[in-house]
Amino acid sequence: MTKILLNGAKGRMGRAISAAAAECACEIAAACDMGDNPADFIANCDVVVDFSFREATAPLAELCAKEGKALVIGTTGHTPEQRAEILKCAEKIPVVWAGNYSLGVNLLNYLSRVAAQILDESYDIEIVEMHHRHKKDAPSGTAQKLKEIVLAARGRGEESVRYGREGQIGERPVGEIGVHALRGGGVVGDHSVIFATDGESLELSHRAADRKVFSKGALAAAKWIVGRPAGLYGMEDVLNLK
Ligand code: NAD
Repeated sequence: MTKILLNGAKGRMGRAISAAAAECACEIAAACDMGDNPADFIANCDVVVDFSFREATAPLAELCAKEGKALVIGTTGHTPEQRAEILKCAEKIPVVWAGNYSLGVNLLNYLSRVAAQILDESYDIEIVEMHHRHKKDAPSGTAQKLKEIVLAARGRGEESVRYGREGQIGERPVGEIGVHALRGGGVVGDHSVIFATDGESLELSHRAADRKVFSKGALAAAKWIVGRPAGLYGMEDVLNLK
């Protein structure tokens, strides 16, 4: 049994992870949320799993680095400053950091990379995501990751990205990557990457219907990361999808 300190335990993901733990041979040894001090519980755990809020992750990563504990980060929406603080901690401890822990989305990442490499810039790329109305960040961590993947495959940088299309004047520039976030209802998480040219379009889509897919992936990552060397890992490492 892998012993987990779960941060954000009372949230939607926290509850889904707690429900899936036993069938994944994991034990939630400590369930922390707002108002708890993870430092009081960390000694008794093998690994810390964080699905909370962006403000919580960097202090938690510092605690893990001090105590020599592995960390799995599911929380999204960090600022560049928060990201830098977390990356510094990953020099001291093993960290899995993924915007999406489902097998299907990690395969979507892989297939999007291949498609962006094979299809030249006569194929315009648009990334579209939709989530439930309670989601606190936009675009989603998964859409950000898809954007980074197709930008790298095309040898382009952030200046080629257009978020939303309000105010556009003139034609769509060649090589632009569009990113669009929709919010509504109880949608767990939909992502599509569209490659469109004159005469055809290819759409790679993933639809999560149940948070269980993220929970199982995060728990698999928690088991995988314990005992690894310090460093930053992605779900593609856990799934051997490189
Ligand atoms: P949620 O709002 O339902 O739950 C978040 C929980 O964190 C709440 O219980 C809240 O009280 C708690 N929290 C807030 N600040 C905290 C703090 N400082 N310390 C401890 N706990 C704190 O949100 P959710 O839908 O469960 O999502 C949580 C995070 O996980 C979000 O960032 C979301 O985008 C992300 N997420 C990631 C994946 C993935 O696969 N990586 C999947 C789904 C959601």
